[in-house]
Amino acid sequence: MSHRVTLIPGDGVGPEITLAARRVIEASGVGIDWEEAQAGAEVFKRGDTSGVPQETTDSIERTGVALKGPLATPVGFGEKSANVTLRKLFETYANIRPARQIPGVPTRYDGEGIDFIVVRENIEDLYAGVEYMESRDVAVALKIISRRGSEKIIRYAFELARREGRKSVTCATKSNILKLTEGLFQRVFDELAPEYPEVEPKHLIIDNVAHQLVKDPAQFDVIVTTNLAGDIISDLASGLVGGLGFAASGNYGDTAAIFEAVHGSAPKYAGQNVINPSALILSSVMMLRYLDEPAAAQRIEDALFVTLEEGQAVTLDVARQAGDVERATSTSGFADAIIDNLGRAPATRYPSKAAAPATAPEPRPRWEARSAIAADTQLIGVDIFTEQDGDPTAVGRALEALAGPDFKLQFVSARGTLVYPAASANIDTVGWWRCRFVAAEEGATVDDAAILALLSRVASAMAWVHVQKLRLFGGEEGFTRAQGQ
Ligand code: NAP
Repeated sequence: MSHRVTLIPGDGVGPEITLAARRVIEASGVGIDWEEAQAGAEVFKRGDTSGVPQETTDSIERTGVALKGPLATPVGFGEKSANVTLRKLFETYANIRPARQIPGVPTRYDGEGIDFIVVRENIEDLYAGVEYMESRDVAVALKIISRRGSEKIIRYAFELARREGRKSVTCATKSNILKLTEGLFQRVFDELAPEYPEVEPKHLIIDNVAHQLVKDPAQFDVIVTTNLAGDIISDLASGLVGGLGFAASGNYGDTAAIFEAVHGSAPKYAGQNVINPSALILSSVMMLRYLDEPAAAQRIEDALFVTLEEGQAVTLDVARQAGDVERATSTSGFADAIIDNLGRAPATRYPSKAAAPATAPEPRPRWEARSAIAADTQLIGVDIFTEQDGDPTAVGRALEALAGPDFKLQFVSARGTLVYPAASANIDTVGWWRCRFVAAEEGATVDDAAILALLSRVASAMAWVHVQKLRLFGGEEGFTRAQGQ
């Protein structure tokens, strides 16, 4: 049987590593009809600001599976990351990044039994990319965490643990500080955990996860976390088991999966045929398991491990770590060695935490839909964000005079910290204020007409930049208080 797969060579070292992976896959005997497609720098240069042309989207829609090289992202203003665009276009909400000791790759943790999987939410959080310059000098990004997005990824993590017979799932959040966003992620985790009684649920604050990962990485089994945190700790995880040259990943959605190395386009090595293709080859192994080709996947993984274990060929990154750059083999030479070793098994097999390593397609759990509208919602006030110079007391007094009959000014904060009515003299304000108005009568609700009238009064005196309603959901505050309130 032959599979159709979209192949995106990508930027920088991408064409070299995708060629190496393609040759190894073909030599393993699995039948693939490749559809080659473009994305990234060349596409941006042609003036397509998405970085992902329609032909590429059409191809992935047809095949449902893509193997991609890294795509360079323009830094700063303007174009979006083509990587993030691809993940979002196909709603590949689960980014799976395994970290496991590899035979023949020496690390500081040799023999300790590192074998864990980072399950990273892949669509939401700060990577939703909703950012604004709220004033000339103040930038703001929305951190978007939804119940549905959290449920999808957390179920994915539990299903993965269940399928592989893994014992624990650690939810890693910053819920102690970000009580609504990261807190929602943790609450959904706590709600779903009882449905998986055979898996031990744990929660750790993400900064402690970073600390524990360096101190005792073998304690982890499955880690589920939000997008930005997952991006950072999975790079950390790759450093524990040999570096970015070995870090594989898969992006899974309900209708498509995209496999890629964790690393980027490493532009300084582009075209030199020196880069380590192992990360993309291990991503190809994940792809073949997804395509239900476990035998071919195992043959490739074994051949790569034999090559590394016997040290017949080593790429520059590994040779450098061993202090012997003269030994370095080219990217293509390394792929040749893997191909020569197909059919052989490594002498070392590190024990796995998985009772049954994934040999079948990745799980595709369903999540429960529920209405976006909550009936028990109460509107109790509004935050009006303004832009102005001046001292907090003057700003606060001016706003109090504008509150009118329906509202009272509860506080003004600068960068989240209370500056009016009380303030510490040490606070450095930056000309961007959150001005909270609540119903004048204690415990009362307000309506849109009253908010619009208030906004119009404030606008007559100062520049407002955005408005946020303050609501209670089932009696719970759907907003944070100011630091120091
Ligand atoms: P990078 O391309 O991952 O490279 C950083 C460093 O990691 C390299 O200089 C090299 O370290 C090491 N490295 C990366 N791949 C390696 C491999 N296969 N074998 C051995 N060592 C490897 O990160 P970057 O320089 O920050 O990013 C470059 C571009 O890639 C940016 O445009 C970025 O946006 C993009 N990017 C794309 C993706 C993606 O497509 N998924 C992911 C990340 C970044 P030494 O210098 O120590 O040799």
